[in-house]
Amino acid sequence: MNYQSTANPLLISNFEEAVFKGLPDSSGLYMPMQIPHLPSSFFSQLHELSLSEIGYQVLRPFIGSEIDEITFRNLVDETLSFPIPLKQIHDQVYSLELFHGPTLAFKDVGARFLARILGHFATLSNRSITVLVATSGDTGSAVAHGFYGVQNVDVVVLYPKGKVSDFQRRQMTTLGKNIQAIEIDGTFDDCQDLVKKAFLDRNLQDKYNLTSANSINVARFLPQMVYYFWAIAQLKSTYSPSSEIPVNVSVPSGNYGNLTAGLLAKRMGLGIDHFIAAANANNSFPNYLTTGSYSPKPSIATLSNAMDVGAPSNVRRINALYDSDPKKIALDVSSGSFSDQDCLQTIDHVYNTYKYILDPHGAIGYKALSLASEQGVSICLETAHPIKFKEVVEAVIPDPVIMPTHVEKNLNEEYILSLDKDYSIFKDYLISSR
Ligand SMILES: *Cc1c(COP(=O)(O)O)cnc(C)c1O
Repeated sequence: MNYQSTANPLLISNFEEAVFKGLPDSSGLYMPMQIPHLPSSFFSQLHELSLSEIGYQVLRPFIGSEIDEITFRNLVDETLSFPIPLKQIHDQVYSLELFHGPTLAFKDVGARFLARILGHFATLSNRSITVLVATSGDTGSAVAHGFYGVQNVDVVVLYPKGKVSDFQRRQMTTLGKNIQAIEIDGTFDDCQDLVKKAFLDRNLQDKYNLTSANSINVARFLPQMVYYFWAIAQLKSTYSPSSEIPVNVSVPSGNYGNLTAGLLAKRMGLGIDHFIAAANANNSFPNYLTTGSYSPKPSIATLSNAMDVGAPSNVRRINALYDSDPKKIALDVSSGSFSDQDCLQTIDHVYNTYKYILDPHGAIGYKALSLASEQGVSICLETAHPIKFKEVVEAVIPDPVIMPTHVEKNLNEEYILSLDKDYSIFKDYLISSR
């Protein structure tokens, strides 16, 4: 399949090039040039298929013949190797728990897929590549875990010293092997600056095949479609497989990649009637739908901090899907903005009433279900495990949040390199360590 820039239809890449380049140009994002409609036989069998079989069938058309079938099946199996259960909160309201992966957030799905795709292409072409990533916490740990042990790929992850949680830091620093964590004496912006400078440095770029693992990469974004299909498959096994019960899905949104993946799944024929884009105080997208004009803003810090994005990149992809017409978008998507107070009240209410623990992101998603029609089934995506936001959640509910058993108590030794925020020191490190 070929991919095209949302900003310039003449910029076209195959899948491999789209993955390696990440961005087609300075102002666009890659979009698939066709969106295949899956056959009705696929939908009638959906409830009998496994998660990885669904993953294979949904993603296959987007890769085409660029990866052979057996390799691709393995790659999908390895990506989707943890459960994604649909849990009933009450009545017809469900939570799709996307947090059972190694770093307890949905970003594991995209990071694992991207890692395996890059590793595959690097091995085939006998290249070694270096992934550089700056993180304020969550992205770095998902990427580091995603790439852990993948051949021909080294990962260098930069985080601001003292500004990530102990849990997040240990998830980056205790892996070893092909993962190097560097703490920078500075802020997240300093980390990002170093990474940007390295990408612009032709000497480094050509010699070390530097690649980003940016969230807008097609290989991070596409696999997120799969769990929308999986949610419907699980519903069909709960209700009668042929029932045409209307389904609303609420998506806690920041950069709007997750929502865009859901909209793409709908285009492929999946029976989701309506989406709800749940925003925190960062309300550029809800405002776009209500006013018809899009004006990105600086981000505002909130309790659901992975959604603190003032200028969401994927609005470009959503526009590409809906002819840049907010009225057309609104036919499929409702959107609302909710405060930190709404978030805390929702965590409190849902725990006290139904004994279900929401994290601050899922709480915004649940709250936004109030924008859905009352009919049919509602699903909210739970994008992170509440343990990741233990302090916030435990300040509201009377009981402790328990660490899930699949995350072993990580007692491994930490390997940390501490560097100043000076570019020439960072560059010297990259050159000496490759
Ligand atoms: C990244 C993230 C989001 C936002 O997802 P987008 O695809 O950027 O909209 C929501 N919740 C959690 C926990 C996240 O880590």
